Amino acid sequence: MRKTLYLKFLLGYFIFGFFGFIAVATFVSSMTMEHLTREKADALYKEATLVANTYAADLYNNETSLDTVKKQLDALDTYLSANLWIINPSGRMILDSKAPVDVENETVISDFNPTVTGSSYYTVGNFFGCFTEEQLSVFAPITSGYKVRGYVVIHYPMSSLTASCNGLLNISYLMLVVLFLLSLIILIFFTEMVYLPLRKITEATEQYAAGNMHYEFQVESEDEMGYLAASLNYMASEIARTEDDQKKFVANVSHDFRSPLTSIKGYLEAMLDGTIPPELYGKYLGIVLNETERLTKLTNSLLVLNNLNTRGMMLDKSIFDINRIIRDTAASFEGTCRKKTIAIELILTSDELYVNADVGKIQQVLYNLLDNAIKFSHHDSIIKVETTEKHNKIFVSVKDSGIGIPKDDLKLIWDRFYKSDLSRGKDKKGTGLGLSITREIISAHGEHINVISTEGVGSEFIFSLPVADDNED
Ligand code: ADP
Repeated sequence: MRKTLYLKFLLGYFIFGFFGFIAVATFVSSMTMEHLTREKADALYKEATLVANTYAADLYNNETSLDTVKKQLDALDTYLSANLWIINPSGRMILDSKAPVDVENETVISDFNPTVTGSSYYTVGNFFGCFTEEQLSVFAPITSGYKVRGYVVIHYPMSSLTASCNGLLNISYLMLVVLFLLSLIILIFFTEMVYLPLRKITEATEQYAAGNMHYEFQVESEDEMGYLAASLNYMASEIARTEDDQKKFVANVSHDFRSPLTSIKGYLEAMLDGTIPPELYGKYLGIVLNETERLTKLTNSLLVLNNLNTRGMMLDKSIFDINRIIRDTAASFEGTCRKKTIAIELILTSDELYVNADVGKIQQVLYNLLDNAIKFSHHDSIIKVETTEKHNKIFVSVKDSGIGIPKDDLKLIWDRFYKSDLSRGKDKKGTGLGLSITREIISAHGEHINVISTEGVGSEFIFSLPVADDNED
């Protein structure tokens, strides 16, 4: 059987109970008995000393009669529930509280030895064979004229002490049971706060290990367990999302590769089998070339994206004039703009505007934004590129008055391979990767890019860049 944490805890709980019982039955029992014996012996010794110094001493000094002392002893016998003796140093019994005075028949304790108590003042046993039951016997010497004349001995049955000891032990057992039951609360807490959440977490990790990353579970506590469960849930959902993204990515890449390849293959086959006559080769080879250009663009974009995607993208930062880069990039589109009679208007703050960024990558961003703006602009329109400086940031805006982006598409345009339905007619070569590359680059700089667009009116893309610090090189 699998040793669960719960079983181990339960086992620990019963071991605790068992050892608690053993401790009470052994140590506590012997310590209580010892304590009670010593306490009783103390009390009896005081009584014995009192008797030895008063009546018993008077008896030896012939100041009182045997009967008077006997009466006193009888009274004490009842009061203490003990047996009181007065004996001679030789062991001859003078008085016994439990027997009538009998001068004729003397009782002598054979082998009586007053040093039997050793360094203490009491002894436990049958007192030189006088009793069948164990007794606690306390000695007090009766002295007169610096001589020991006799002893006052008080015997107390050990069975009475054992009875009081058992009474006290019963209380200890009861307390132990109460404690044991109370500690059940810990078990309940453990079950609720540790065991059950842990079982849910273990189940979840088994599901994740089996590849079911969409498995969801809930641990409703706001402690470390809850935090662990939430982190695990988050981790799994992130892995699931990455897996889904990856699947979508591969599906998109294959699809985008397949369509140009199919058309290239189709045209080439048609040329080979004569379906396309040689005089039309020029036209169809132009189409084939276009398709290969599309494939090249797609491959390049994928490579760029792959490089950008690795965490902690290496940026080759330097200080450069963003206005100059904007002018250069805009100039590179001169040919395309002329074809569509589109004008690019540059509204640049001051002559030079220095930023601290990766010049090559920012150039790519500008290229992507201008390329889109031209692609989706109508003929005879104007594209505005503007720079502004605000709160130690440079904002670059690329604004067109083209087809615009439908409201529902605004969030999706940053996704890889996303192309809005509206754009498909205008842009057949598009890969849907341009904006996702753009956003990755801006994020790597710790900056933001936003879009404002109205369908049929136009779009404006604005991104920020850090102003170059004067102290920087
Ligand atoms: P592509 O390389 O195909 O242009 P992008 O990622 O750059 O891919 O753009 C994704 C989609 O966003 C485009 O297909 C288009 O639908 C939309 N889009 C981007 N820029 C503009 C714009 N200036 N005007 C209208 N739509 C745009």
